[in-house]
Formats: sequence, structure tokens, C-alpha cells
Amino acid sequence: MVATLGTTSSTAIDPLPAIGQICAAFQVFLHVDAAYAGTAALLPEKRTEILAGIELADTYLFNPHKWMFTNFDCTAYFVKDPQALRRTFEILPEYLKTERDREVNNYRDWGIPLGRRFRALKLWFVIRDFGIAGLQARLRQHLALAQDFAEKLRAHPDFEILAPVNLNLVCFCWRPGARPLSQEAHNDLNRQLLAALNASGQVYLTHTVLRGQYTLRAVFGNTYVSEKHLELLWALLLAKTQALAPLAVETSPSA
Ligand SMILES: *Cc1c(COP(=O)(O)O)cnc(C)c1O
Repeated sequence: MVATLGTTSSTAIDPLPAIGQICAAFQVFLHVDAAYAGTAALLPEKRTEILAGIELADTYLFNPHKWMFTNFDCTAYFVKDPQALRRTFEILPEYLKTERDREVNNYRDWGIPLGRRFRALKLWFVIRDFGIAGLQARLRQHLALAQDFAEKLRAHPDFEILAPVNLNLVCFCWRPGARPLSQEAHNDLNRQLLAALNASGQVYLTHTVLRGQYTLRAVFGNTYVSEKHLELLWALLLAKTQALAPLAVETSPSA
């Protein structure tokens, strides 16, 4: 079983305690994928929400290269039973034997490659450089920016938030209120809005589809993202929707 904490599309959180209990009852191996959202567990106020039930997992990972300011690639991988990996991957030809084999973790025995890059070093530098307080401050700023953006969208009659804003991602669409459009026309409108925003060269948003709805995604996760970028995004959003407004009219099938 693979449970996801923070799905790629909308940072949805699977109900890990319930999934974990079922896995325990049926002796199913449980892997927990928190590749993106796992970084939020650095915040005490988010830890319970993100990691509830994690004690039931057999393996867990998150990617510092996503939201923890570490250059690609770097994944932190936690295993409950390292012996399972060692039994699977360990090979010990004569020329690899050393006096220290019993005293250290030879990570070549925990996975497929023998030669590996020293990825932990760059993560160590990040942790030393920012410090835990520095990392937490940036994450809290990102969460606050996402809430601020969500607040602006909620206060505006022509935008709709399409998924809970539980982290630093905001999933939304433009829904000009006065004229109801078909789903297809509405999706097309939002597709054009995304293209116009990104063509500005000033912001870069991505998209997904949630329940058939073309969805714009704004994420506040860059190391130096700040309030001024949020203001810029908001201004662009108002300008581009205004420019596209004439298109927000259903053309009749006969036209
Ligand atoms: C990004 C992401 C992945 C992919 O991670 P890689 O380390 O690039 O393979 C997997 N799961 C989730 C939830 C992700 O956000």
C-alpha cells in the first residue's frame, strides 16, 4: 500500500491512521510518500496534521529537493526495518570487505547502486546554513503567502478555490459570475488565462484537473518568494482576466 501525504496535484492528505490500521490488520507493507509535503513536518504546528499515523508506516520519504531549499536531487528515506533492505541488496565480494563492515552502515547494502553521490552533504549544508529556526521561518512565510492569496481569491466574486489550502499550494479557477459557461468553455477560458499569465514572463503557474475542472495552481515555495511577488501575481491576474473577459461568453452552437 502506498499512502500519499500531499498529492502532487493538490497536496491532498490521505487518511493515514485509517489506512495504517487496515494495513496492520492484514499485514500489508505500507509505504508513505510525502515527497512534497513532508517538509512541513519541520513545523510543530503542522507536524500532527501531516504525520498523524506515521508510526504505522514501514517506509517513509520526503524530498528536501522540493520544498527544503536543497538542489536537485535529494530524498530522505526512512525505513523501519533496514535489515529487509540489507537482506535484499547486500553483496559482499572479497574485494569489498573491510575491517569496519560491522561498525558502520554501508549504504551500498541498502539499495541497488554501489557508487553513489554524497547527497547528504548538501542537505547538511542547508540545515547548517538556514538553521532549524531559519527553515521554519521560510516555511511559515510560504504558508502565510498561500493563505493571503486564498483570501484575495475568496473576497473576489469571480474566482473560486478548488481544493483546501492546507499548505503552500492554491488550486483555483476563474469563474466570471454573470455568465454561466459550459464546463468545456469554462476549462478553455482558464487554459487561456494560464497561458496569458505565463506569457507575461513575470509569474509561472502550473495546472491540473480536479473533478473535471481545469485548475490553476499557484505555489509559494521558492527560497526568496515574498509579498511583492504575491502582489504582482494578483495584479496580473486582474489584468489578464479583464483582457480575456470578452471571451467569457458562451458562443451558441449555431454560431
Ligand atoms: C514529486 C513527487 C514524487 C516524485 O518524486 P521523485 O523523487 O522525483 O521521484 C512522488 N510523489 C509525490 C507526492 C510527489 O510530490
